[in-house]
Amino acid sequence: MKILVVNAGSSSLKYQLIDMEGEKELAKGLVERIGIEGSRLKHSAGEKSTVVEEPIPDHEAAAQLMLKILQDKEYGVIRSTDEIGAVGHRVLHGGNKFTASMIVNQEVKDAIRECFPLGPLHNPANLMGIEACEKVMKGTPQVAVFDTAFHQTMPPKAYMYGVPKMYEEKLHVRRYGFHGTSHRYVSHRVCEFLGIRPEGKRIIIAHLGNGSSLSAVKDGKCQDTSMGLTPLEGLLMGTRCGSLDPAVVQFIANNPLNDDGTPMGHPISVDEVLTMMNKKSGLLGISGKSSDCRDVEQLAAEGSEDAKLAMDMLIYGIKKYIGSYAAAMGGVDIICFTAGIGENNDVLRARVMEGMEFLGAKLDPEKNRGKGEKIISADDSKVTVCVIPTNEEIMIARDTLDLVTTGKVRDN
Ligand code: ADP
Repeated sequence: MKILVVNAGSSSLKYQLIDMEGEKELAKGLVERIGIEGSRLKHSAGEKSTVVEEPIPDHEAAAQLMLKILQDKEYGVIRSTDEIGAVGHRVLHGGNKFTASMIVNQEVKDAIRECFPLGPLHNPANLMGIEACEKVMKGTPQVAVFDTAFHQTMPPKAYMYGVPKMYEEKLHVRRYGFHGTSHRYVSHRVCEFLGIRPEGKRIIIAHLGNGSSLSAVKDGKCQDTSMGLTPLEGLLMGTRCGSLDPAVVQFIANNPLNDDGTPMGHPISVDEVLTMMNKKSGLLGISGKSSDCRDVEQLAAEGSEDAKLAMDMLIYGIKKYIGSYAAAMGGVDIICFTAGIGENNDVLRARVMEGMEFLGAKLDPEKNRGKGEKIISADDSKVTVCVIPTNEEIMIARDTLDLVTTGKVRDN
């Protein structure tokens, strides 16, 4: 069966068509600037690629264009949309309703809508993507795969915040965690790769990309994760500040600065502070130049003290999470690095693992060099340290296939 994987943002729609026989990617693409001037579709199928520039007013038009190019004589890979067995959608927030992926029906759509306040940027866009595909592919099953689902096994002591309990009970204020599809894929894949069962294993996963999160996984189940009610909590990220004293929000709201460092002279709203914390902070805010780890490293190499500090803060933060999750699980057997930075940046991996011998983790500098799925710890390291490239699309496609063929998702 061919499965279409869709990740809809507020002005974008990413897709990948996968042939589940052999789990082979047939084509992928990105529709950008939906509803904005300069909208376009970038599509590739094997060696061939093309860009279509035309007005794309809404997500339905984007979905239509995606189907058109997938059936195109030159760049297409299917003859008819009937060949698409089902569509799997990435959905950011499932609240505490969804512990696994679901076939989309009215109830599921209502629940995604109920989570709008928890994922105000992503959930409305995700739902638009689902509804657009429903319209242009009538009768094709749609599946929702939630970024929060894998983390639903966290115990209350890990997901509760220390504010009055009624906020969790009445308003569902708690830690949810994100990148769940990635953490789930990597935690299972590493066991498959090492030829072991997840039972009895304590795994720490460092998903380090533009957005970054760590998770503690015991017996294949998530015990804790660094992102919270929203993706803002946890590590320093590309443009997000990560965890801080909540009183900082009030202080900055009362004493805001302009981009040039001069006082604004009037208070700003909490929403404005949070926008700054989400979009102008992290590597970007500290380096003052870029949110991209490669740029920040380059700047540091050229002598920028701010860029060096940004990298030091990121690495220190990752170390602290590894230490705290190892303590929380009573030890650690496997540490996995994944996503853009985790998979590609061997210098950062070496710096994170520096001095971790006390935990039983010792890196092999030779094995650590370069990229790809591999063990990077020394032969005599008690903890196995690995690089496992993430593949959220495959996980979404597998869940989608399972739900439409057997009615339930497999364990991994
Ligand atoms: P997203 O969270 O948007 O999916 P990615 O997982 O692609 O992000 O990660 C983006 C980050 O990964 C950037 O900071 C970038 O510098 C880093 N990165 C991506 N590719 C490489 C590479 N080949 N070498 C070093 N760093 C990389």
